Amino acid sequence: MDGRVVITKGDVTAFEVDAVVNAANKTLLGGGGVDGAIHRAAGPQLLEECRTLGGCETGQAKITGGYRLPARHVIHTVGPVWHGGDRGEDALLAACYRNSLALAAENGLATVAFPSISTGAYGFPIRRAAPIALRTVREALEADPSLRKVYFVCFSEGDMEVYLEEAKEIFGEG
Ligand code: ADP
Repeated sequence: MDGRVVITKGDVTAFEVDAVVNAANKTLLGGGGVDGAIHRAAGPQLLEECRTLGGCETGQAKITGGYRLPARHVIHTVGPVWHGGDRGEDALLAACYRNSLALAAENGLATVAFPSISTGAYGFPIRRAAPIALRTVREALEADPSLRKVYFVCFSEGDMEVYLEEAKEIFGEG
């Protein structure tokens, strides 16, 4: 898609983008995994702002400042906990990506970096999550030219291989 989608390996807290997406929990008050890493890197002011938000429902997204992160904003989205796949997990995961990008566009943000939502502690299988992430982002980019660049930031080599394989199917050239 003209370089608007980038799959890479790394630490999402290091990305200098308009917004990094946080795989948060419903309280928005911090947790483990990427959530903990984002709060540590952003500093205590992030938690202060999060306390004012009143939590977030699964599949929805809320925006805050980025504080000490190189990213200007954090978009907090709450992925579904995996319960076997027949409890609406696919649709909720797609909603996370769709609502995060809608919020970015509403705020005039053009570059966004995503971790792999729900595939850590929440147990969503990466093989099933990656195509949902890629397809949903593709649709959002097609619908909204103001979104210039989306990074899928994989935390492991294995995750990146899955993303690259699935991207070949979804974007043609990978
Ligand atoms: P969830 O609770 O939504 O499953 P996790 O944070 O447990 O969220 O995991 C989501 C994904 O983020 C996993 O693939 C995990 O390996 C990855 N991850 C953890 N820390 C980072 C980081 N600093 N940057 C990018 N990805 C990360």
